[in-house]
Amino acid sequence: MMVVRTVADLRAALRDRRGGSVGFVPTMGALHEGHVSLLRAARAENGTLVLSIFVNPTQFDEQSDLAAYPRTEEADLGIADDAGVDVVFAPGGDEVYPAGFSTMVSVTGPVAETLEGAQRGRAHFDGVATVVTKLLLSVLPDAAYFGAKDAQQVAVIRRLVADLSIPVRVVVCPTSRDDDGLARSSRNARLTPEERSRALAIPRALSAVTDAAAAGVTDTEALRADAAAVLSDAGVEPEYLALVDPVSFEPVAARRGPVLVAIAARVGRTRLIDNVVLEPVREPFGTPYEGGA
Ligand code: AMP
Repeated sequence: MMVVRTVADLRAALRDRRGGSVGFVPTMGALHEGHVSLLRAARAENGTLVLSIFVNPTQFDEQSDLAAYPRTEEADLGIADDAGVDVVFAPGGDEVYPAGFSTMVSVTGPVAETLEGAQRGRAHFDGVATVVTKLLLSVLPDAAYFGAKDAQQVAVIRRLVADLSIPVRVVVCPTSRDDDGLARSSRNARLTPEERSRALAIPRALSAVTDAAAAGVTDTEALRADAAAVLSDAGVEPEYLALVDPVSFEPVAARRGPVLVAIAARVGRTRLIDNVVLEPVREPFGTPYEGGA
């Protein structure tokens, strides 16, 4: 496994590779089983596996969150090696944002401006879009792997990849969860045991919606109320609890096509996000949902 710090060294490493497709997993490090599930998927499908580790300052809306973000490079490199990574790209801040840097990639519309975009501010997805564009153009992978846990990030990235004609296949991997149901996140380490048990109301709320949807509830307000009750019983106040179209992020009134149920909540000082996608409604006689955008 090679570790490179500059785009020039990254390109040299990839030029000398054995051939086959290049799979790429961008991360901010503090690797956990969720990241490893992406690495495993990418490893299985590509001749060369590239991992990036970069805590991207432009996507943080709170300086305290950026300062407290775990940085565990030594352990990360061990995990990457075990997962069969060929090249780790771990640039410093100056390599990604050199002096004079003045170009940002900005996705507009509900996909970037609602939910996370509204709570964290416009700059959050501008930061994500800019760094992901730079990383994709640096690695030029055949396929890039992202987690469904960050569903809105996936939608923003799909949008920019299409809009900028970046020749990469975007692969979305399922959310990896701990045994108690909590979505794995580098930020979970900050939860006290009491906070962690309270945080479990988030996956419970998502399960309640999934169960109600499976039982035939189609009215999204009713589904939303089910989830809100579970959160409120646990004393968890959501920043948002929304049922939206998973591609456009427009609100959905009645289920027909797939619906993304997205929750963000602060538990103690830790901000957590999670989501689930409800399958399209299937009718016994004919299919009212025909798919499409
Ligand atoms: P991060 O290091 O948090 O920026 O995450 C890097 C990538 O790992 C993103 O595509 C995330 O969506 C993905 N990821 C983070 N946590 C999980 C998880 N629990 N399950 C699946 N993917 C995840």
